[in-house]
Amino acid sequence: MALTFSDLERILVNEQKKCDNHLVIGGLEKFINNFTERQPDEERARAEQIAQTLRGYDTAAPDTRYEMIERALALVRQESAPTAPPAQTPPAPPPEPPSEFEDEEDEEEGAERVPSAKKTTRAPMVPTGFGLDASITRLQNVGPAHAKKLQKLGIYTIGDLLYHFPHRYDDYSQLKTISQLVYGEEVTLLVTVCEAHTREVRGGMTVTTVLLADTTGRINATFFNQPYLQQQFKSGRRIVISGRVAHDLGRLTFKHPEWEPFSQELLHTARIVPVYPLTEGITNRWLRRLIKGIVEYWAPQAADPLPAALRARENLLDVPTALSEIHFPTSLERMYAARRRLALDEFLLIQLGVLRQRQRWREQPGRALRVDETLVKNFLAALPFQLTHAQQRVLDEILADVQRAQPMSRLLQGDVGSGKTVVAAAAMLVAVANGAQAALLAPTEILAEQHFKTLTTILAQYPNPPRVRLLTGGLKNREKEQARAEIAAGEIDIAVGTHALIQEDVTFHDLALAVIDEQHRFGVEQRATMRAKGYRPHILVMSATPIPRTLALTLYGDLDLSVIDEMPPGRQVIKTKWLEPRERERAYAFIANQVQQGRQAFVICPLIEESEAIDAKAAVEEYERLRQEIFPNLRIGLIHGKLKPSEKEATMSAFRDHALDLLVATSVIEVGIDVPNATVMLIEGADRFGLAQLHQFRGRVGRGAHQSYCLLLAGKSGVTSDERLRVIESTQDGFRLAEEDLKLRGPGEFFGTRQAGLPDLKIAKLSDVKILEEARRIAQEIFARDPALQLPEHQLLAQRVAEFWQSKGDLS
Ligand code: ADP
Ligand code: MG
Repeated sequence: MALTFSDLERILVNEQKKCDNHLVIGGLEKFINNFTERQPDEERARAEQIAQTLRGYDTAAPDTRYEMIERALALVRQESAPTAPPAQTPPAPPPEPPSEFEDEEDEEEGAERVPSAKKTTRAPMVPTGFGLDASITRLQNVGPAHAKKLQKLGIYTIGDLLYHFPHRYDDYSQLKTISQLVYGEEVTLLVTVCEAHTREVRGGMTVTTVLLADTTGRINATFFNQPYLQQQFKSGRRIVISGRVAHDLGRLTFKHPEWEPFSQELLHTARIVPVYPLTEGITNRWLRRLIKGIVEYWAPQAADPLPAALRARENLLDVPTALSEIHFPTSLERMYAARRRLALDEFLLIQLGVLRQRQRWREQPGRALRVDETLVKNFLAALPFQLTHAQQRVLDEILADVQRAQPMSRLLQGDVGSGKTVVAAAAMLVAVANGAQAALLAPTEILAEQHFKTLTTILAQYPNPPRVRLLTGGLKNREKEQARAEIAAGEIDIAVGTHALIQEDVTFHDLALAVIDEQHRFGVEQRATMRAKGYRPHILVMSATPIPRTLALTLYGDLDLSVIDEMPPGRQVIKTKWLEPRERERAYAFIANQVQQGRQAFVICPLIEESEAIDAKAAVEEYERLRQEIFPNLRIGLIHGKLKPSEKEATMSAFRDHALDLLVATSVIEVGIDVPNATVMLIEGADRFGLAQLHQFRGRVGRGAHQSYCLLLAGKSGVTSDERLRVIESTQDGFRLAEEDLKLRGPGEFFGTRQAGLPDLKIAKLSDVKILEEARRIAQEIFARDPALQLPEHQLLAQRVAEFWQSKGDLS
């Protein structure tokens, strides 16, 4: 069967990765010619165009190759067409030796053709006269093109570069001798070139063979299709090579190893080599060299926010050392020590901010509400169900809080469907009975609407129901005006809206309680806004993301924590089934059947990359496929992250109102959306999602009377993903899933990519529980002694805390 363009795309993407580490073996041109020949006529032209783009590829320099693939990919994806029509696409430039090998001075490689890149001295960018916050464009080695690419990585300033940490390392630090080599091992050797020769083999390929020697023996290394290397390997030259020991006719050899000229300061080989997060057009070699210069110049000058005495006591590296070791470790041990230090700093900033916040919040006068026991009892008695023990306990905690003359700040955690809303409703009722107002804020309009309906229903049974009003952006201006006026006049008791409700031009007559739903981090912004408006209401933040306790205490340390850890009785078990890819047809048949019975279904598309654009594209394709090939008779909707909020809302509403049978969605599907008639949740690429996220998806069904199902389709199986799918198949307990997920994947993934508001951690991982606890202890000690961080030795720390929290807005 002929390869398709999407196969080609995969191959090219892969190949492009190889450009980065110079692992190109060649043969791509031949491959693409074959590919072209096998295309059906209608696709031939396009394939030829792509082949044209790749002409000269096998012998081109790495960065040129990179760009060639870039152009080819654009054609494959038929995105932006190349700048020139195909016939005029300039043939690839002739193979030119990468400039970096021109001399011992380790020049900058690559395609940046700005004159400043042609530097001859090593100590690269000693940028005098400006600081870490200077733009990277001030660096001599960074021209406008590179600057733009770096910006994609979030690197704008020199400081950003210094804090652009490797995401992993290759350990080439163990130098070996030739006599010690063992087949299959990854090694690094310091050797002398004896001789090199290049010959042509079949199909125009070239093989350059280099004979290398040290005092213990000799070994060959071969390089394919890099004839220009011939000149690099002058006999007598000392080089360092890193790679895997291979076999050739019974003799040990190296095939296309990494190499660099020997110098005192090796960057790419005989050391623990940093591997950085990259973006298109930035290679690790280039970035390494850039960062090396930055680290050499700037790390020693970096100020250390922790007092020396504390560092000594806690056995922590100083910051200059840590920065240097994190980029270019002298040993793995030192690298770990550096990581510990830098991660600890991040946690410390969070902790200190959180402790400060907690204290400030507590210092504020709040309004003590009177809790009328009978009122609460009557309210509860009128409900069609009894509160669970957990709900009752949490309600008691909340009611105890609001009776104090300090504003409550409480986080209420409870799994999807655990019944948080009714607890919040009781608290709001108490506020209203005190003659004050309450607000309920949701992240989206549709959720706000949903809350509005629920509240109106719950409270309707009440003899003298509070006046509830919905205020969302979707209202007509006149209605908004009116709602605002009524809220300001105190004619509305409970205002329900999106988070924007309090930011917009709304004035409350007398706001005593604000409930913020589905907000993970503190509702910090909301609090800041409220404070700015002069309100000091009791605040209840609700979240359905089950967060293990250690984490919660750290990230939400300024909030008191309440947990509803029990589900209302009689909840249906959502039948969860992990299917083999070949059972997809069965899943579709099942969906069709459910729809025929009047039900609805979700299809979640796989998470392809952490890129909304790519995920959105894949979702569109999946949507088209389902619509045209699988379910031509169903009404199908699509939502993804690239749609406007209004478009998303419209589709969600249509689905909720049963104007759609099937909703295809990326992982953006709204948390908490309530469509009781939906009974099937089909998750494609389930192995790519964290447990917590799978659990959230699953929580979208099983909300009505009908038996509901969650179908998991996984791609390739792997140990962790299999484990994960087994866990989700076997339990519906969100907290257990969260703990398992942390164990299996680490919290970055646990929170998923959409987790808004999490502090921006550059190096600390939330699974670093030990460091986290260390940081908490140290923070508490510092705070106990110097809560306002006023001591001279805490000045820098105070500044860092302020900077760290600046964007988060609530420490003012
Ligand atoms: P969540 O915690 O996800 O916000 P909700 O508050 O929306 O959960 O509650 C989910 C559903 O469970 C609602 O229909 C609600 O009326 C119902 N419910 C809440 N508490 C109980 C209970 N103790 N017993 C039975 N049903 C309950
Ligand atoms: Mg809810």
